This record gives sequence, structure tokens and C-alpha cells, in this order.
Amino acid sequence: MASSNRTFDLAVIGCGIVGAACARAGTRAGLRTIIVEGSLAGGGATAAGMGHIVVMDGSEAQLALTLYSRRLWQQLIPELPEAAEYRSCGTLWIAEHEAELELARRKQAKLAGQGVACEILDARQLMEAEPCLRPGLAGALRVPDDGVLYPPIAAQWLWQQAQNAGAVMRSGAIVTRIQEQAIHVAGGDRIQAGAIIVAAGSQGAELIPEIPLRPRKGHLLITDRYPGFLRHQVVELGYLQRAHAGTESSVSFNLQPRATGQVLIGSSRQYSHDRAVEPDVLSRMLARAQSYVPRLGDLRGLRAWTGFRAATPDDLPCIGPLPNRPHIFAALGHEGLGITTSLGTAELLLAQMLGAEAPIPAGPFQPARFFIETSPAGHA
Ligand SMILES: Cc1cc2nc3c(=O)[nH]c(=O)nc-3n(C[C@H](O)[C@H](O)[C@H](O)COP(=O)(O)OP(=O)(O)OC[C@H]3O[C@@H](n4cnc5c(N)ncnc54)[C@H](O)[C@@H]3O)c2cc1C
Repeated sequence: MASSNRTFDLAVIGCGIVGAACARAGTRAGLRTIIVEGSLAGGGATAAGMGHIVVMDGSEAQLALTLYSRRLWQQLIPELPEAAEYRSCGTLWIAEHEAELELARRKQAKLAGQGVACEILDARQLMEAEPCLRPGLAGALRVPDDGVLYPPIAAQWLWQQAQNAGAVMRSGAIVTRIQEQAIHVAGGDRIQAGAIIVAAGSQGAELIPEIPLRPRKGHLLITDRYPGFLRHQVVELGYLQRAHAGTESSVSFNLQPRATGQVLIGSSRQYSHDRAVEPDVLSRMLARAQSYVPRLGDLRGLRAWTGFRAATPDDLPCIGPLPNRPHIFAALGHEGLGITTSLGTAELLLAQMLGAEAPIPAGPFQPARFFIETSPAGHA
């Protein structure tokens, strides 16, 4: 355990995958780093997530961050432990009918324009690529360099890397308050640090209330082992539209092959604080999945669970300094992409902290966009 009267260059609050990646980047930059975790390292949303490392094109900024982050994961593959279960299985974006295939072509043009390898599969090529799908689907966009991993082990490994480079952890310590260069821990301790990164997941708004985070609940279900049943991460093309339709609750078809031969079935989205698995949401989600993969009904489900994505109003994370407190940095609001974007977040944040050139444009991710300017008294 770290002694609280030491002074650090960097204190990271939260040891989910984002905090662990930030601690690793901090130690790699030579910063004396402490990470303060209130519960279990890698146990928050990170333990609940699906682990799809994916390029997403919901916006230009999202595309830049996911593509950059996927590149960083690819560079790490040779070092990742086998237990992290990284598999370069690729993504199949499924087009149900001809109109969706046209969307797939547009998506292909957009991704290819950024140098992302991808190809259109027609109906026959799709059935050859993924025989468990129902016949009659129009085709798919295949993105071969996307991958999957097991998030809690990946997060622990990132933290281990930081620790090997000298970082220390204060575990079981809940941060109650942050100041410009100090954090206060429940029980009365105060830890001083030159810079602070708040990577507290969906609880981040308790420390930085200006950032409007809402917990977005998701359901997942994992099956028994069926090696060879599924080859790719398979997602319906309308996933982004369904997921962010603004409706109370939505379900989308999203299947993942695990290294163990298990099939991970997702996913749902609803604004909620209630951790309970909801049978009606789960059965809607499974019905959606089965409409694409009829034989799913023959597989034995082992366990269902829920997790909370930290959602911002504009679906982009906050990665940068607070406007009025330049030594405090946010690494928050990663919604359904924090496993993918953890590495890019860490590099983008460290570049801003150290005044280095940002690897991608940092503007769209600035927390300042959520801070309402109050004009001086007497001015409109
Ligand atoms: C169902 C589901 C599926 C998903 N699928 C994917 C996917 O396929 N691909 C992808 O890229 N992403 C996916 N995600 C998103 C991803 O899981 C999250 O974006 C990511 O895990 C967020 O990591 P984090 O480190 O920010 O937060 P967390 O993992 O929640 O970690 C935050 C940590 O901070 C600690 N903490 C909080 N408050 C305090 C405090 N005051 N003091 C001390 N410690 C504190 C918590 O204990 C926790 O350990 C999915 C999420 C869900 C729910």
C-alpha cells in the first residue's frame, strides 16, 4: 500500500481499463504514479464489457479515436498474456436487406478512406464466412483487423505493466473529493500529486459534477462452449442507429466468439441505475439475436449479467483538462467503447498533460464543452 504522505507526479482515480491504461502511460512517461481504486481493479464496467476492439464511425472524432486505439492494441498483441484471450477475428457488419447493403457500401467507402482494410461480402460469401447465420441476408461488411479480448485480464495486465515500472496502488480507498493538486480519500487521508486523472467510470460525475454522465445499462449472456460455432464478431449494421436511437430501451444483435468456444450474446441499452437482470429485456435481446442466428436457441446459456456504460450527451468521451482546474484531467464517458479506446485515451491525455503533440485532434473530446460559462455579474 502506498504511503499517503508521499507526493506523486500523477494520481489516477479508478483502476478500470481506462485508469490502468493511463497509469501505464504515466509511468512510461517517467511520472511517479499512484492509482487509487475504491473497489476491485478491473471490476467496474470493465468486468462487464464485451471486449470488442472495433473501429466505429459514428462521428469523425469517434473514428479517429477508435482507429488510433485499435492500432495501439495491435502493437501490444505480441506482449499480451494468453489469458487476455486476444483474437483477431474481425467484424462482420450484417446487412439484412438490399437497403442496408447500400449502407454497408457507404461505410466501406468511409473506412477505406481512412486506410481501414474492409470488404463487402455478398449473400453467398457471407454464408461461407459465417455459416450459423440464417439464409436470406443480403451481405455484410467485413473488417478483418478488428478483434476481441477479455477485458478484466487486459486491464489487470495494463496495471501490472504500470506497477512493474514503479506505479503504486492504493486499493479499497474511495476518493471523496478532488482539489487542484490533491485528492481526499474516505477516512481522512490526502494524497498530493502534480496532476490528477479522474478515470472513475460511471461514478466520475460524483467527482466532476459538471460532466453530465448517465449510466447506460447493458445486458449480456454467455453460453456454454461450442468451438467453431461462430468465427467473427457479428453485429447488425443498424447497431449504431438502434443503440443510440434515444428510445427508453433498445436491443441490438451483437455476437462474439470467445477464445473458450463460448458465444457472448449482446446487447441492450437503457438508462438505469438498477443492476438487476431484467427478463423481458433479456428475452427481447435473445429474440433479436435468434432472428439472425436461429440455432442460438439450441445453445445452453450459462450466465447473464448487466453492466453500466458511462454515457455523455454527445456520445464522445471527455479526455482532457478541466477548464478551470488545469491540473485535473478527465478520462470519462467512454460509453460502449472504453475497452477499445482505453489505450488511445491514455496517450491523448498524456500528450495534453505534457504539452506534447496530440496523436489525434483533441478538440472534440475536451471536457470544457460541458462546462457552462457563467458571465461576470452585471453582464448578460
Ligand atoms: C454490456 C457492455 C458491453 C460493452 N462492450 C464493449 C465492447 O465490446 N468494446 C468496448 O470497447 N467497450 C465495451 N463496453 C464499454 C466498456 O466496458 C467501458 O467503456 C469501459 O470498461 C470503461 O472503463 P473505465 O475504466 O472508464 O470504467 P470502469 O471499468 O467502471 O472503472 C472505473 C473504476 O473506478 C473506480 N472508482 C469509481 N469511483 C471511485 C472513487 N470515488 N474512488 C476510487 N475509485 C473509484 C471503480 O471502482 C472502478 O474500478 C461495454 C460495456 C457494457 C456495459
